[in-house]
Amino acid sequence: MPSIISASNDQVKAHRWNRRPLASSLIQGPGYHDVMTVLPRSGGHGPLTAAQRLRQGANLVNGTTLLGLAVAVAARTDLAAGPRGLLIAGEYRWRLPFAGAFTLGNVVLCRSTADELLARHELLRHEEKHSSQYAWCLGVPFLPLYFLAAGWSMLRTGNPGTSNVFERHAGLAAGGYPPKASLRHGPARPEVHGVGLRGRRRRRHTP
Ligand SMILES: [Zn+2]
Repeated sequence: MPSIISASNDQVKAHRWNRRPLASSLIQGPGYHDVMTVLPRSGGHGPLTAAQRLRQGANLVNGTTLLGLAVAVAARTDLAAGPRGLLIAGEYRWRLPFAGAFTLGNVVLCRSTADELLARHELLRHEEKHSSQYAWCLGVPFLPLYFLAAGWSMLRTGNPGTSNVFERHAGLAAGGYPPKASLRHGPARPEVHGVGLRGRRRRRHTP
């Protein structure tokens, strides 16, 4: 699991001006516009590719996107439509997991604002790969598999990412994990990238 973080709600509050209506629906059905709307940011996003639609459908059917939406709504996050079928849940403030960003199905939850995460293209691509991993693992089984892989990595390298097959596939650097080569002289404390809140301690993420 990632390292301990410190709460920085003051900075989160500073971004309140950017808040959009809280949303709780993946699909904007014709009868839901007023109460359940996920607004796209930065002028909208292009059409999905066949693979992106397949991932979106798979994670909807396997329940992980609904799980992500349930957490996003329960945690009163600021939900926005992201690119490539992703949903961004910004300003997540629950204490667990100790992470700057993490993914449940097609929902990427982050402690920064949704707009700040959308501007971090490499990290968003990294989280998108975890979203694909949920689809490949048929949904919820991804979570125990991920934590097994993270435990294996902890034993081998002293951090949950470097020897974690899921993090290696998603990209170690983008996820804030040190490459294997840098561990030749024994386990080291991982670099802490993740979603930083300006000027504060930066964080790694979980899936
Ligand atoms: Zn990751």
